[in-house]
Amino acid sequence: MGRLHWIIFFTFTAVSALVPALHASAGDADPIYKSCVEDCEKSGCVKDKCFQHCKFTSDGKPIDGPWYLQEPLYLRWKQWDCRSDCRYQCMLAREEERQKLGDKPVKYHGKWPFQRVYGIQEPVAVALSALNLAIQFHGWISFYILLHYKLPLRPNKRTHYEYTGLWHIYALFSMNSWFWSAVYHSRDVELTEKLDYSSAVALLGFTLILAILRAFNVRDEAARVMVAAPLIAFVTTHILYLNFYKLDYVKLYCLVTDLRNIVSHAQMNLPQCLAHFLGLNFKVCSAMRVTQLLIWAVWAGVTRHPSRWKLWVVVAGGGVAMLLEIYDFPPYHGFVDAHALWHATTVPLTYLWWSFVRDDAEFRTLALHKKVK
Ligand SMILES: [Zn+2]
Repeated sequence: MGRLHWIIFFTFTAVSALVPALHASAGDADPIYKSCVEDCEKSGCVKDKCFQHCKFTSDGKPIDGPWYLQEPLYLRWKQWDCRSDCRYQCMLAREEERQKLGDKPVKYHGKWPFQRVYGIQEPVAVALSALNLAIQFHGWISFYILLHYKLPLRPNKRTHYEYTGLWHIYALFSMNSWFWSAVYHSRDVELTEKLDYSSAVALLGFTLILAILRAFNVRDEAARVMVAAPLIAFVTTHILYLNFYKLDYVKLYCLVTDLRNIVSHAQMNLPQCLAHFLGLNFKVCSAMRVTQLLIWAVWAGVTRHPSRWKLWVVVAGGGVAMLLEIYDFPPYHGFVDAHALWHATTVPLTYLWWSFVRDDAEFRTLALHKKVK
């Protein structure tokens, strides 16, 4: 009966994850904020704070003054331009006013108002991403040491464990993803956002393949290719669309939605349609995440694996962590928001996860080694 309860819980989590959590940004629609940004872009100042960048045109040349007063390259590369500085200062000023009036924080351009530290946008999320990266690295190294130095090897010096290569690839994908997550949270511009998104989608796609191969005990090379190929094709297409054909993708999506709306007499403008498109990507990611959680949960339920309890904890923790992504709340004191907390939950879960992987390697190796003997 307990098992049934869990399955109901995960199905519920799965369904609620597919409902897009989209909020229009109230902050940037606020007329006081809007006029603050407009004034700042003209004068270069918000109250007594002034920005040097506002004296330059967008290609880094000074509006007035000699050529040698060019803006430093590293600042241009970081895109700390007039607009982003104005937006940040106006947001801080507006939030301060709102707080005095007893109003709750609102989002600006899709993001909660965060306090920057040394120019880092979300310091807590950056630190947690780095910690996750370190934990992944530790897990990977200890997995390698266990397989190659502690467990018996085959006569050809290869490991008995059939999933060695897959876990190595997993480690690379996840470390890559945490690296770009740290970069993105320190400075979000289009490029860093795309890199973060793409590596997260790639990781999700690969872990889904891994879940299917391990849970269904797919050991045959040809069968593995048959499972992986369509998923790789799907994830690659999705990443390509996200990065290069986003506009056309959105247009197509809006057109289809529009046709549907004509039938249902509903109205949707372009910004709303864009928000829906972002929701679509969220759905693709959620669907991949939920599918693999369900696969592991069901497998943990039926298998006689000695470390299945670790799987249970990781799956349950992963389900709870997903709720943090859905129930978005503003950053506490401008630092810790739901997303940062979500990055915090993955730290112990990753640790336990690699511990399961090591147990699995040991369990399979000893079974196979006995057979060989
Ligand atoms: Zn993140």
